[in-house]
Amino acid sequence: MKKFFCVVAVCAATVFCCGCGEKRPAKIQSVDTAMGTVIQQSIYTTDELSNGAEEILDLLRELEEQELSRRIDTSEIWAVNASAGNKEGYMLSPQLAEVLEKCLDVWKQSEGAFDVTMGPVVSLWDIDGWAAGEREGTFVLPEDELLRDALEHCGSEKLQLNESRLYLPEGMMLDLGAVGKGIALDRILEYLEKDEKITGAIISAGGSVLTFGEKPDGSDWKVSIANPAEPSESIGVLTLAGQWCISTSGDYERYVEVDGVRYHHIINPATGYPADSGVSGVTVLTKDGFLSDALSTACFILGPEKGTVLAAQYGAEVLFVNRDGSIRMSDGMRKYFQGAK
Ligand code: AMP
Ligand code: MG
Repeated sequence: MKKFFCVVAVCAATVFCCGCGEKRPAKIQSVDTAMGTVIQQSIYTTDELSNGAEEILDLLRELEEQELSRRIDTSEIWAVNASAGNKEGYMLSPQLAEVLEKCLDVWKQSEGAFDVTMGPVVSLWDIDGWAAGEREGTFVLPEDELLRDALEHCGSEKLQLNESRLYLPEGMMLDLGAVGKGIALDRILEYLEKDEKITGAIISAGGSVLTFGEKPDGSDWKVSIANPAEPSESIGVLTLAGQWCISTSGDYERYVEVDGVRYHHIINPATGYPADSGVSGVTVLTKDGFLSDALSTACFILGPEKGTVLAAQYGAEVLFVNRDGSIRMSDGMRKYFQGAK
């Protein structure tokens, strides 16, 4: 992906407010790539020399390289996966121990639909090697026997976590792809809360969006939800005030097509195949980045009936776009969602 970065300070917005003596925040905008996805930032700050956007990018790159990536040999997840089969286990950092605890909670509550031990199956499908629609004509489906073998090396019930020491059995592999962007939103929120000059921000990392604070004109944040059948178009908009996390999981985000059948990147642990719950896209709205991302993946696999129950257990709102284009949402989501005309 072409790397580019631009910071546009809207100078007109830096003028002093009449009478009050307070600076009106400037808007800083940037588009770049990090964590294998596009990061779009709009930050409102009274510091017109703010390098907040660059610092947030650095923070995301560090998160990927030092903590979460399964493919970078400097990350903690790499070291954890390399420890598979070790009798002495692996002592997790406090932040990874906390993440894993939360993952195990969603695994339990989703009855195994969300499972960060799907690494061997995700690897076999070569999901990281796909971009939407790429590898058409060259991709060969995994053989059933290999898939069965990979599935035998999956399952969070096989993990042992004693205090912060993780025992990962031989052949198993953690993959935090389903929560990486959500964790990123939580880290960005921590950063924004510490910078007293930042008055508002809307930041998206792939399918996950964080809203924070408010715009100088007091208007609400607008977050568009893509139409899975035509991702450049929108099925509607969420109108939000203050801090929220919004994550979407969709079958259009990463996939390959073989003989006219689309194979996407969200795997049902019960079959080892892409989830087939009749859903094309799921959007979850909560205050917490990790949860929004974990639940959007889990709800995609569970489908509307069970997914709605799961989201409610965590106090989250959820919207499903079914494969036939129909929309179903939790009652609480209706307050925020306006469908496209
Ligand atoms: P998302 O786009 O947030 O729904 O996450 C999808 C990513 O999560 C995939 O690219 C895989 O890396 C990983 N994944 C696939 N299936 C599962 C699953 N059942 N549970 C947890 N992670 C999964
Ligand atoms: Mg997710």
